[in-house]
Amino acid sequence: MDALRASGAAERLDRESLVHEGIELRWNRRGHRIDLSALSGGRKVWVYAQTEVVKDLIALQLADGAPLLFEAPVTAVTGADTERPVVHYTHNGTARTLECDYLAGCDGYHGIVRQAIPQGELRTHGRVYPYSWFGILADVPPPARN
Ligand SMILES: Cc1cc2nc3c(=O)[nH]c(=O)nc-3n(C[C@H](O)[C@H](O)[C@H](O)COP(=O)(O)OP(=O)(O)OC[C@H]3O[C@@H](n4cnc5c(N)ncnc54)[C@H](O)[C@@H]3O)c2cc1C
Repeated sequence: MDALRASGAAERLDRESLVHEGIELRWNRRGHRIDLSALSGGRKVWVYAQTEVVKDLIALQLADGAPLLFEAPVTAVTGADTERPVVHYTHNGTARTLECDYLAGCDGYHGIVRQAIPQGELRTHGRVYPYSWFGILADVPPPARN
């Protein structure tokens, strides 16, 4: 929320999202309220669909006037270890290149950019928890008002 507000992409999110200050875990036929807001210095959970965030970010980018290309698959990235990395992509059936100052590889774990990073330069950061959880999305009223 802080990052989206700072970038000017939270106007609709602030208006339309569903605010949660806590959750209720059910155990042994009793509800156990976890007051997230009290436990985190007043922070809240904002329920707002991921796809809506994408729409808001696209609108912001278009309003800024910077080019935003859809249907432009990247075929290769070269020079990832130089000052001027180059993105090779196709758009409207034409092969194009984009020479960059910086390159952010946001093409997912199996994307091309990860493979373009030279061996030895790649550092990964991760945390593996000793448990997993399973969420079920239900179209029902919230168990508590907030
Ligand atoms: C079924 C499912 C449910 C999930 N649920 C949750 C959840 O509830 N909460 C949670 O936090 N995480 C969840 N995740 C994980 C979360 O979706 C991923 O961790 C997150 O999307 C990764 O973001 P990303 O931006 O790194 O990559 P991605 O979201 O994978 O985005 C990569 C983008 O790059 C594009 N791309 C890839 N290659 C190219 C190319 N060569 N040229 C052009 N474009 C390219 C792809 O089309 C895609 O749009 C879920 C994942 C799945 C599969």
